[in-house]
Amino acid sequence: MKILVAVKRVIDYSIKVHVKSDGSGIDFSGVKMSINPFDEIAIEEAVRLKEKGIASEIVAVSIGEKTCQESLRTALALGADRAIHVETSFETQPLCVAKALKALVERENPRLVILGKQAIDDDCNQTGQMLAALLSWPQGTFVSRLNVKEDEIEVVREIDGGLETLKMSLPAVVTTDLRLNEPRYATLPNIMKAKQKPFEILGEDVLGIDLKPHLKTLCVAEPPKRQAGIKVTTVDELIDKLQNEAKVI
Ligand code: AMP
Repeated sequence: MKILVAVKRVIDYSIKVHVKSDGSGIDFSGVKMSINPFDEIAIEEAVRLKEKGIASEIVAVSIGEKTCQESLRTALALGADRAIHVETSFETQPLCVAKALKALVERENPRLVILGKQAIDDDCNQTGQMLAALLSWPQGTFVSRLNVKEDEIEVVREIDGGLETLKMSLPAVVTTDLRLNEPRYATLPNIMKAKQKPFEILGEDVLGIDLKPHLKTLCVAEPPKRQAGIKVTTVDELIDKLQNEAKVI
């Protein structure tokens, strides 16, 4: 079974992001970039399926600027067999990414596509659902357990008040939740081996799709700064302030 894994390059989760002074977007200069954490989980799940003899090949794909190739090299070091980079200078938005992934699915014929449940930069949580709709494939989103059986999969999803188990036929789209697995680290020998693995770079024209964004960001703003707190000396003063200043009691 061939698995396609979608890998997005995002600002590292540990970095405090800053908004550009003109409010036009996030300041990316000199900022550490990494694979979207949910996509690391997607790669790990695919690698575990390969280790169990269920998956035969893992293809990691990324759509974006040339720098995405670094993330794809990491995906190869983590266990993907091949990488495909769809190079574009456009800001990637979920519908365009879903269309590009659909074109890659039609080219590669995987039985399973694994994506992260959301990219931590735009928090869209849309691409997997859109891809499943475009392909007319069943989807298991926010998956915290995945079992592959012959021609179907069983997924467990964390929902309000409990766990939901769904069964669906293959081919299917799955999006990963945090508790699906704990991704491994890339070892030095595997980083070296990754350099020899097949790596394809496609222009967006090759897939015959338009990656031009359809949404325009009007402005990005930092959350308002919290006001400094004050100290009160007595309980009476506290009650007075809560009643007359904050007006909460
Ligand atoms: P989003 O819908 O933007 O929150 O992204 C959900 C998931 O879609 C991510 O975790 C990735 O697996 C995939 N994805 C989004 N954008 C890209 C991209 N530019 N290249 C590859 N995969 C992507």
